[in-house]
Amino acid sequence: MASDSRGETPERDFLREIIDQDIASGRHTAIVVRFPPEPNGYLHIGHAKSITLNFGLARQYGGRCNLRFDDTNPETESIEFVQAIQRDMRWLGVDWGDHLCFASDYFEQLYQWARVLIKKGKAYVDDSGEEAIRQSRGTVTRPGTESPYRSRSVDENLNLFARMRKGAFGDGTRVLRARIDMAHPNMKMRDPLMYRIRHTTHYRQGNAWCVYPFYDWAHGQSDAIEGVTHSICTLEFTVNRPLYDWYLDSLGINPRPRQYEFARLNLGHTITSKRKLRELVSQRHVTGWDDPRMPTIAGLRRRGIPAPAISHFCQLAGTTRVGTVSAPSLLDYSVRHQLNHTARRVMCVLDPLKVTLTNYEGSETISAPYWPRDIDKSEYRPLNFSRTLLINREDFRAEPEAGFRRLAPGESVRLRHACIIRCDDVVRDAQGTVVELLCTYFPKEPGSTQASPPKPRGVIHWVDEERSIPVEVRLYNQLFTTLEPGEDYLEALNPQSIIVKLGARIESSVCNDAPTVRYQFERVGYFCQDRVDSSPDSLVFGRIVTLKDSRARSKKFTKAKKPARTPSVDDSRAEAGPSLQALPSVARAFVERGAMPGELEIAAQWMDETVLAILNGRELDGVPMKADDFGRVVHHAEAGNITVDQGRQMIFILISDGGTVREAGLKVASESGEDLAGLLSVVQATLNLYPDKVEAYRRGKTGLLHFFVGQVMRVTKGQAQPALVRNLLALELSEGM
Ligand code: ATP
Ligand code: MG
Repeated sequence: MASDSRGETPERDFLREIIDQDIASGRHTAIVVRFPPEPNGYLHIGHAKSITLNFGLARQYGGRCNLRFDDTNPETESIEFVQAIQRDMRWLGVDWGDHLCFASDYFEQLYQWARVLIKKGKAYVDDSGEEAIRQSRGTVTRPGTESPYRSRSVDENLNLFARMRKGAFGDGTRVLRARIDMAHPNMKMRDPLMYRIRHTTHYRQGNAWCVYPFYDWAHGQSDAIEGVTHSICTLEFTVNRPLYDWYLDSLGINPRPRQYEFARLNLGHTITSKRKLRELVSQRHVTGWDDPRMPTIAGLRRRGIPAPAISHFCQLAGTTRVGTVSAPSLLDYSVRHQLNHTARRVMCVLDPLKVTLTNYEGSETISAPYWPRDIDKSEYRPLNFSRTLLINREDFRAEPEAGFRRLAPGESVRLRHACIIRCDDVVRDAQGTVVELLCTYFPKEPGSTQASPPKPRGVIHWVDEERSIPVEVRLYNQLFTTLEPGEDYLEALNPQSIIVKLGARIESSVCNDAPTVRYQFERVGYFCQDRVDSSPDSLVFGRIVTLKDSRARSKKFTKAKKPARTPSVDDSRAEAGPSLQALPSVARAFVERGAMPGELEIAAQWMDETVLAILNGRELDGVPMKADDFGRVVHHAEAGNITVDQGRQMIFILISDGGTVREAGLKVASESGEDLAGLLSVVQATLNLYPDKVEAYRRGKTGLLHFFVGQVMRVTKGQAQPALVRNLLALELSEGM
């Protein structure tokens, strides 16, 4: 596969197919696209899709993408928005170079072109008034009626249009219309409006104009002026395309741009309409355009979401002609994917409970790793430890339920990066609330004063009481409770969209970091400082995203099981337990079609957390992923051949693009940064050397995987990543199973 200049595997979609054909046929030698925001609001995640698509095309094909402000409506546009849009785009990492354009710069050319249409008898001045014109347009089933001004002479039209421009008439008294067909089945073609009169100051043109072009008239002609080849917009403009073509053809512009439409990106539990976003801001349902709960680029940035995560999400969401709603979990996934290897691990206690170590005096400083799971990164921070510590209230139960794996009377836990403690006594206040735990400390090196330490029930996080820092922590949740907040979106506002923890305490090391550093608060989530509300002596942290759900793994697959028979519907219900019953019927049908017989509970969990999260309300019908393939991916993940994250990514690919498990696996593995093709050929060569063992593996001796990993590691002299080797081997071995 070819790579673009950044060495990535290029995306494939219908637009790229069109462009490839245009280049192959010689229609275009270079491509020019544009991103045309109207400066009447801030950019949101939907715009990010259009930005990454258009600038991505320009980069991939060595073409150009113009940033064009579509500023033809003086009443709502402003320089504030122009600046905010550029700031957000730069942050997203796109570069328009010198290609910054403004539709308002083309007003004179557009005016002259309008005169050309008048001279051709294709446009006329209408005095009926904007409201009467709307009334005369007819309906989808009834043709419109022709204006009494439709047959004005060319000279009269030229004269009136010139006087319109000079300011001779009041707002809304006259318009310029294209003369097409009042009975046209497409309402857009019923003598559409080209110009309106507005005596309003334009933020760039001042009072130079009082006639302003409508979108359809301005857009295609602006594309033509800029030499745009592919004018990409969202599906709702499909009905405008005949008009787009009519204007260009009537002017005789050649070569000319062509319009293509794709489905707009929608994100579940949020809105991507500038009008509604503006209302949230103006009615103070949020603190501003950059409120961290907003789907604006400014909001996402303040929230701490890394720019590459947004591009990654837009890529995962794909470019199609079918409108869908993307699951918020997909964005979360992209964010975690970015942060996992870039966010420092520190400790923060949201709801502190005091712990006194009765057999410890003094204090010490522990050198604790920022990257406890990343063996190639060795960075440490000092962590204060003393007789009085704070743990999270949630991590203690006076009366623990069965299976509670944290602190309880008489029980022990390990304090992250420190020692084991045992809870001996509980101190309560007059109301009976637990206010302090008296614990015994067991030093890391056994043999000092204590007998061998007790076995800890689990590991919890903590901070030093005296030397930790009080911080405000804000936990963000979905802004809307419904998946697709419609016109009554204000009623769907989530009262829990922000939860403030005022008494939280964080380890003091964060004071030494730049305010832009992103963290994982261990066991809590990913966080960063709120750039607006934080000050050096009063820190505010906001949650970027939760940690991925660490769901209980009740069963592990030990080997690939082939069902002796497909279970009947009743069988699967009986085995699946309540979690399957709780699944929507579509998912149940899918599971019952044969995914993972015997392991339906796990399959159902995957169905629930991964497949349904990706589909987010869409039907399973028509999804190209096969039930068997779904089962195979789940198997690989549960067997540890791939990580749960990789499994989710593979399922995403199978759902959105189809293809085989192997192809999806390779796509995901290609993110490892290794020379995949090279490693894959070693893997295949190794398997070819041992056909008997491959056979045995496929009959169920899955333990042989270790043998194959060993062989490949030997051949690569230990250079390959063992996890990737295992991953590739498992993919290759399970082909044909
Ligand atoms: P609104 O209709 O909410 O006012 P808009 O979509 O018209 O917003 P523009 O500033 O005109 O906002 O959009 C600039 C570009 O971004 C257009 O090409 C538009 O098609 C594209 N765009 C806007 N929203 C989305 C979205 N949700 N998904 C993909 N592209 C989008
Ligand atoms: Mg628009």
